[in-house]
Amino acid sequence: MKKPRLIVAGNWKMNSSLADSTRYLEALGTGLASLPRPLAIDVVIAAPFTLLANCMQTARRTDIQIAAQNVHWADTGAFTGETSCSMLKELGVNWTLIGHSERRQFFGETDVTVRQRAQQAFHQGIRPIICIGETLAEREAGKTEAVVSRQLEAFIEVLPKSGEFAIAYEPVWAIGTGKTATPQQAEEVHAFIRARLKSANLESTPLLYGGSVKPDNFAQLLAQPNVDGALIGGASLVAADFLSMVRTAVSLRDKK
Ligand code: PEP
Repeated sequence: MKKPRLIVAGNWKMNSSLADSTRYLEALGTGLASLPRPLAIDVVIAAPFTLLANCMQTARRTDIQIAAQNVHWADTGAFTGETSCSMLKELGVNWTLIGHSERRQFFGETDVTVRQRAQQAFHQGIRPIICIGETLAEREAGKTEAVVSRQLEAFIEVLPKSGEFAIAYEPVWAIGTGKTATPQQAEEVHAFIRARLKSANLESTPLLYGGSVKPDNFAQLLAQPNVDGALIGGASLVAADFLSMVRTAVSLRDKK
């Protein structure tokens, strides 16, 4: 099996500004430039739409790749408030999050729309990080695998065999709560997802863990055999913290 590529991705959510994002990316870019070459991992920042053009400009000639936080399934049309793949591509953005639990919880995202968005991203050459994960009530009811499986089955058939994308397992109870899944809890679900991907010949898909990842718990999570990186919200807002997690990934990369 080809080893999955490691990805350290930050999700700024609805935070930052033009000035702050410039300062942040300059600091991160400088920090990354001091790491041993080749970096051989993907470093991605998912920024709010209004900052994408500025982020692309600031991140050029650095190792930072810029992502959107969502993308629509149509290319143009009467979809007020939405953004299409062509619009992202016009800025040079070629990553996006899809199906983040905050979209599912607060904005009516469903398994069907996640599939539609993912399918469009693949057609248009945008690399999605597709998010799945159970709520606390679902975990406590013993439904973690059933929920993750339902969410995965909704889009597994549209995943291209040769495409570049990632899946983020983000237990909803761990997002923004300070309650991280233990490395064992994360590994159990990642191994379950990997087994299903393997049966679809997609076992090299990077599987990211997300949910209160911080500099002090990242190494233990990344040490798990089926954890190939992280999607990091709160702790990605401080450039030095994010950089330290990238450093951790680079130092563990060859041991994976
Ligand atoms: C996220 O936004 O995907 C996330 C995991 O947030 P946090 O790291 O703050 O829990």
